[in-house]
Amino acid sequence: MCGVVGYTGIKQASAWLLDGLQTLEYRGYDSAGIQVVSPSGNLHGVKCAGRVTTLRERASVANLNGTCGIGHTRWATHGAPTDRNAHPHLDCSGRIAVVHNGIIENFQELRRELMIAGHEFRSETDSEVIAHLVEEAWAGPARGDVARAVRNATDRLEGSWALAVVCADLPGTLVCTRNGSPLVVASTDDGAYAASDIMPLASVTSHVLQLQDRDVATLSPDGSIEICDRDGRPVAHPPSIDIDWDASAARLGGYSDFMAKEISEQPEAIERLLAGRLGKHGIELDELSLTREELSAIDRVVIIACGTSYHVGLTAKVAIERWARVPVQVEYASEFNYNEDVLVTEHTMCVVITQSGETADTLTAARRMRGMGCNVFAITNVLGSTAARESDGTLYIQAGPEVAVASTKAYTAQMVAAFLLALRLALAKGLMSPAEVEKHFHGLELLPGLMREVLSRRWQDKQAARLFRGKVSSLFLGRNVSSATAYEGALKLKEISYLHAEAHPAGEMKHGPIALLEPGFPVVAVVPADHVRDKTVSNIMECIARGATVVGVATDGDEQVAKLCQEVLWVPACPDPLLVPAIAVIHLQLLARYVARDRGFDVDKPRNLAKSVTVE
Ligand code: GLU
Repeated sequence: MCGVVGYTGIKQASAWLLDGLQTLEYRGYDSAGIQVVSPSGNLHGVKCAGRVTTLRERASVANLNGTCGIGHTRWATHGAPTDRNAHPHLDCSGRIAVVHNGIIENFQELRRELMIAGHEFRSETDSEVIAHLVEEAWAGPARGDVARAVRNATDRLEGSWALAVVCADLPGTLVCTRNGSPLVVASTDDGAYAASDIMPLASVTSHVLQLQDRDVATLSPDGSIEICDRDGRPVAHPPSIDIDWDASAARLGGYSDFMAKEISEQPEAIERLLAGRLGKHGIELDELSLTREELSAIDRVVIIACGTSYHVGLTAKVAIERWARVPVQVEYASEFNYNEDVLVTEHTMCVVITQSGETADTLTAARRMRGMGCNVFAITNVLGSTAARESDGTLYIQAGPEVAVASTKAYTAQMVAAFLLALRLALAKGLMSPAEVEKHFHGLELLPGLMREVLSRRWQDKQAARLFRGKVSSLFLGRNVSSATAYEGALKLKEISYLHAEAHPAGEMKHGPIALLEPGFPVVAVVPADHVRDKTVSNIMECIARGATVVGVATDGDEQVAKLCQEVLWVPACPDPLLVPAIAVIHLQLLARYVARDRGFDVDKPRNLAKSVTVE
């Protein structure tokens, strides 16, 4: 969600700032801006509502000369997405510029206080108070020391922030700090860089530092980075994180959009994840910080996630309960954080699932579970992310950068990671012999091939997408593990095609959603060959009896479903029906993409959505 970039060094700043913002576009935003400090000590900037390409056009005529600067893509929380509300924000003197990601919860009282003191506000944002607070500190005891001014200012803040600040009086100095929102910095031969995540930095370095909450970094043109704690005491650099993503991984490489690219990358992502996971004694999952005895004692699992990752959690619940016989509770992080404490036994394990590792609600929930004494295991894609750093153990899914806002390859890779965890638990508990675990693992190894087969059938999804033309709503159904697939399919469709879609366990249809049905109403029924297939077929018949147009997601050879449904998205037979969600969902990803394109939308940058949701 939103992007912050900063640079100070020997190159012109604006070029990299604009490129950096372009790379961060995938996080979701509605406006953008940059500000550079000229060598003679003046601030120049451009900002606007809309895309980075518009900002680029404006920057090219503004001739922004300077080797130090900051940039921002805004995802509006306070104040409409307008030119005025776009960041950077300036103080009254126009000599201090600030970009901010996050929410300042006490901004109203600060704004009131600053206005009484004579400050003039130009925007409706919560962020602008920061520029004026830095100005106050600069005018007082912190004069000449931007880091100190930033520290004094942030001492007044409540909420979350990643900040980058420049001051015209100290042209080469860039100061950054964070609390709750992600921010990484990097030192290179041509200067020092800051960014919300490692993606824009992959083209300039292979090592970054993740700032700790409340630490303040001062970046200098020679590339040096000094870090102090909130009291101004120097602190050692945190361990550096190696970027093993090659910059080209975040380019389109011949695909028309990132979503298409990432859907196609799923087989390789699963192969990478599974490589080396089968050892002599079963599943190798050293990332778990628990001994075999501790694992065997686990008597409860609480899975916490948001959005797409929550649907992985629902799938994981079925797998863990079936294979390891441990009761699993799956919670939306945003709800969990405001509920009463969940029941936690001495042997409860908490699993948090977050692609970015920075989902604010999930991080809060994980902290709460750790506070209750739980072992927290994170499943994430981003190296060195906050979820990884704050958990007892982390399994990286190694899916590579996911740029499209709608998650696809991270979804299936997280699911396979959860399957590995379920097998590891089953083995530790003695519920499966090593030979049985091996058999299941070989089932997982078949997934990449089955995924390739589904990908080769994309024409089926293209054809089915036509049934959604002119429709305003749709229903997704599935039972047991396929209900999670139905939820995910509906979410994908909503996210990128803006077509209303809701999902229900197929058996719940009679308790309300069936009232929606009328002739031509599109229903997607996930009905693979498993123990609940016949029940779902009955639900399909109920839909057809009411005139609905049904698209089935069914196993090759299911003649009955072929006869009943208008279109069928075929999945190849999978020896273990529990694994089918990992392949069936690919059809629903493709279907959503074709419907969205048919309706003329940009599938990579859906309106209103942010890739990683770093605010509550
Ligand atoms: N709360 C700030 C605003 O609305 C920053 C939002 C963001 O993180 O982009 O301007």
